[in-house]
Amino acid sequence: MNSDIKLFENGKRLDGRKNDELRKIKIEVGVLHRAEGSCYLEWGDNKVIVAVYGPREAIPRHTQNPLRAIVNAKYNMAAFSVGDRKRPGPDRRSREISKVISEALENVILVEKFPRASIDVNIEVLDAEAGTRCAGLTAAAVALADAGIPMKDIPVACAAGKIENQVVLDLGKEEDNYGSADLPIAISPRTGEILLLQMDGHLTVEEFDKALDLAIKGCYIVSDIQKKAILEKYQPNSEGK
Ligand code: ADP
Repeated sequence: MNSDIKLFENGKRLDGRKNDELRKIKIEVGVLHRAEGSCYLEWGDNKVIVAVYGPREAIPRHTQNPLRAIVNAKYNMAAFSVGDRKRPGPDRRSREISKVISEALENVILVEKFPRASIDVNIEVLDAEAGTRCAGLTAAAVALADAGIPMKDIPVACAAGKIENQVVLDLGKEEDNYGSADLPIAISPRTGEILLLQMDGHLTVEEFDKALDLAIKGCYIVSDIQKKAILEKYQPNSEGK
């Protein structure tokens, strides 16, 4: 943590948010013609697009599971998505994020319905400004719903973290860079089950409990935005109600 960087001004965060306030989120469903399901999501300055293909026969065949579908989430950050051009292609970080997102989604998709199949979830980050794994998973869930993939629930993700000894919701870029902890989670909002929980940095037990509570609250707000976006496409006159 760099103590020279001030992350609060007059009691407010650098972008004017309150401690329990999310960045602005916009979700558009079904933006790609060739994918079975798709979603474009803006979360603060993050921009993410997701394309879902399948269920289709898993290839190569040795990857098939005779009892259920495999879920292949592939998280990729575009070379132009960050300040310093990122070397294109997979790296350790994107492999890790792909793995944790695949596992989170596997727990809500009814994978037993599609033996030997694969469900492919391509997550492309076009602009990255902290919190892209949460943005990617949230958009992936909407794209899966758009593809008509049967799920127990529409999963959702959000992070909380710690900056200058305060627990806050949804870290922005400077907060992520200079803060002291980040706790991204994903849940199934219907059951409250935690599908993903990672932590970067240090939190006391009390701070952890507070951050987890805050991240869960954030998830429910994002979940409402997801549902509204899906209803806007499939029931355009319902006004998301
Ligand atoms: P998340 O995006 O889920 O918060 P991290 O905590 O790993 O994941 O990354 C935080 C932010 O750091 C990213 O959103 C992105 O803005 C930036 N970042 C990540 N990887 C790179 C990279 N290879 N080059 C430049 N910036 C990066």
